[in-house]
Amino acid sequence: MTVPTITLNSGHEIPQLGFGVFLVPADEAEAAVTSALEVGYRHIDTAAIYRNEEGVGAAIAKSGIPREDLFITTKLWNDRQSGEQPHDAIRESLEKLGLDYVDLYLTHWPTPEKDTFVNAWEKLVEIRDRGLARSIGVSNHLPEHLDRIVEATGVVPAVDQIELHPAHQQSDILEWAAAKGMHIESWGPLGQGKYPLLENDAVTAAAAAHQVTPAQVVIRWHLQRGFIVFPKSSRQERMQENFDVFGFELSADEVAALDALDPGDGSGRVGGHPLEVN
Ligand code: NAD
Repeated sequence: MTVPTITLNSGHEIPQLGFGVFLVPADEAEAAVTSALEVGYRHIDTAAIYRNEEGVGAAIAKSGIPREDLFITTKLWNDRQSGEQPHDAIRESLEKLGLDYVDLYLTHWPTPEKDTFVNAWEKLVEIRDRGLARSIGVSNHLPEHLDRIVEATGVVPAVDQIELHPAHQQSDILEWAAAKGMHIESWGPLGQGKYPLLENDAVTAAAAAHQVTPAQVVIRWHLQRGFIVFPKSSRQERMQENFDVFGFELSADEVAALDALDPGDGSGRVGGHPLEVN
């Protein structure tokens, strides 16, 4: 099965569907990523703070899959944003991953209280220019943060990876992205299992209509909305289920019914608030 790709503002292509490894323990990461690669995933989303980059790297090395067929993302943790620290951080991540470059490197959170995210972005631009990251982007950045980093560098992030699922759509960031040619990556695409998304009537009705599972409906919604998505599961049957989403298409009405699930007041958020995470 061929996963569609999206061309980023760097000119590089990213598989629109990948596999995320948040909360996959270090000693289980190699097995989880090996299973995901067996299923067919070629895009893996990790982060320094997940403390499982070595396991991800071990799975990549053992897979024998050519480097150019893989798309690997990692992220700069919040305590390494200042001074020259991002350069040390990417070197350490690459060593753990066993790679010469990552496909995408992201500033993990803006942590606005410290006010070091602009410096972090300037260093990510240097890291890209040194060839250590093919594309660079951010995560959890609000329009006010995006405006500042672009004003400082003239460089628009390839992506903003934000909490995004039908109950929390962050339309202000989506509008910024559409205006500037930035792509959106959805984290917590299934609501992290915390939000009762998979039992929602609009989701279960579409699942029954297409004879698929509620999770497949929600993943399909992300893909049809143009988002890049990498659901996480430690179970290979669910990895397979989450990958098997190209044999059906939601109707415009079904997409609209899921669009309508955002209460609009931020109450659908399941993770941290970008102004509060440090
Ligand atoms: P998710 O929405 O993918 O939820 C994962 C949980 O959903 C699993 O633990 C499992 O309980 C459940 N699940 C998975 N497949 C299922 C299925 N088919 N049916 C029923 N339940 C299923 O949440 P996530 O893991 O937090 O997000 C995905 C990825 O996004 C992460 O692994 C990570 O790579 C990234 N992420 C990034 C940030 C950030 O700040 N940038 C934060 C959180 C996650």
